[in-house]
Amino acid sequence: MKVDKIIRNAKIFTSDKKNLLASALAVKDGKFVYVGDENGLSKYEGETQDLNGKFIMPGIIDSHVHVTMGAGYDLVGDFGKLIPCDSKQEVLDYIKDDIKKNPGLDRYRYRLHKKSLGDEDLTKEDLDAICPDGELQIQETQMHSIWVNSNILKKHGITDEIKDPVPGLSFYVRKDGHVTGEMSEGATELPVILDCAINKSDSEIDAAIKRWIDFCLDVGVTAVFDAGIPGYPEFHEYVYSRLLELDKQGKLPIYVDGCYVISAAWEVEKGLRELKRMQREYNSEHLRVHTLKLFMDGTLKLHSGAMVTPYDDTGDMGCTAMNLQETVDLLKVLNKEGFDFHVHTVGEASSRLVLDAVEQVRKELGDDFHVRVVSAHLQIQDSADLNRFAPLGVIANCTPWWHCDDVEIYKKLFGEQRGKKCYRCKSVWDSGALVSWSSDNIVYADFECWNPYLGMEAGMTRRITKKSKFTDPKVFPYVFPPEDELMTIEEMLLGYTINGAKQLGIEKTKGSIEVGKDADFLVFDNDLLTAEHEGFSNNLPEEIYFSGKKMDR
Ligand SMILES: [Zn+2]
Repeated sequence: MKVDKIIRNAKIFTSDKKNLLASALAVKDGKFVYVGDENGLSKYEGETQDLNGKFIMPGIIDSHVHVTMGAGYDLVGDFGKLIPCDSKQEVLDYIKDDIKKNPGLDRYRYRLHKKSLGDEDLTKEDLDAICPDGELQIQETQMHSIWVNSNILKKHGITDEIKDPVPGLSFYVRKDGHVTGEMSEGATELPVILDCAINKSDSEIDAAIKRWIDFCLDVGVTAVFDAGIPGYPEFHEYVYSRLLELDKQGKLPIYVDGCYVISAAWEVEKGLRELKRMQREYNSEHLRVHTLKLFMDGTLKLHSGAMVTPYDDTGDMGCTAMNLQETVDLLKVLNKEGFDFHVHTVGEASSRLVLDAVEQVRKELGDDFHVRVVSAHLQIQDSADLNRFAPLGVIANCTPWWHCDDVEIYKKLFGEQRGKKCYRCKSVWDSGALVSWSSDNIVYADFECWNPYLGMEAGMTRRITKKSKFTDPKVFPYVFPPEDELMTIEEMLLGYTINGAKQLGIEKTKGSIEVGKDADFLVFDNDLLTAEHEGFSNNLPEEIYFSGKKMDR
């Protein structure tokens, strides 16, 4: 058979469990037509490359990223100065002084550690007094809350009558029934933070997307699940319209699996309607939308991750965006419509709720239940739930570069014992569940945290060292507990390839080097299976093939 390319004398990690290692492959019309040993090559003729033992793996699938939100942040550009103060008065004096030095700006942007305020609240009246004419926003450094002045509230139509997405989780802070200008969680704050991005031109959006594409081509990411933007569907869709256009022009060499985001039960109806429309409108070779994304809870450090056992330091429980019955009802509708479900589940109670809901629906529908349900983040889980993913067929999506952190923070949140039992991905994996890996970053910046080899390193070592390609001061002199949750390199590679493909529903065409699948593969100088784990984040492919075509980078 005449083929387009033959590779021989390589060490190929196929991600195909029936045939995990191979030494030769052949590609024709963008697909693998042969994968195996050298003996089987005799039937094929075409351009042949002897790789001298170089390592090959399938293209990487990052199964939870934020392409559209990252583009938005890229276009906003400046997050503002970090306010280096220790009391409310100092904060206000700092801003007042800074505005005086930089008069006439449309929007003044700052960042602030919440602890800088001590126990004091910052209100719109405080901010109006120092910035009566322009727009003033102060973003909390964890990026889960924001303070704004009245001009911004007015611009976004935020009045005392506005409905909270989820009281106690994603909401407008109120005092005596009046909004104070403080807002909590993405659905309320993101339209404010990203509002100027919606006015950017197509070519400016394309330039931001191009930066992300270049990064993917650098590291070998060939498919992603885009987890969207809570609260700001207009901009999210604007970016999809550009991705669609780029795909039509042949300029999208990455498969993007998209979603529509909701943050509350009362958004379900609109969410389903919009998802249906978007599935129709954004459907090209490398862009598809078939998933409803829900923020079931918030974030641990703000105590808005939902817990089975209360937070140790405050006694808070967090809360979920939906209850069991609402989740069961939603799963049934998604099943009927043929959609998939991706849920932000940080705390114990939100992943349990998803498992409980799937259990109930499976009891009723049995094999007629076909929704791919993904429970993402899984920062802390109740031990009783670790083994439930596999029998229920719920996919566990984890972000391994988080699996190394300051353990003291977790001990403070959850107590001495529970604080040392976070990120138990290996237990979930070993129970037989499908586990997929992701980078879950919301800001492009220099893409450092989007690096899949950083995820692999942290997944295998649960620590960042000086050898790691990572500038954040995350170096701790210990393996983040529990030490028996370390993953192997094979598990990291499978979770970043075939398991991601199964999550995205593209396992018939992508995720492994198998005959008939798209020829997406990466060539490395060094063997990832035997590479040092410390400093693994410095690996980079030498060549990248997308549908059999070598990518220019
Ligand atoms: Zn996310």
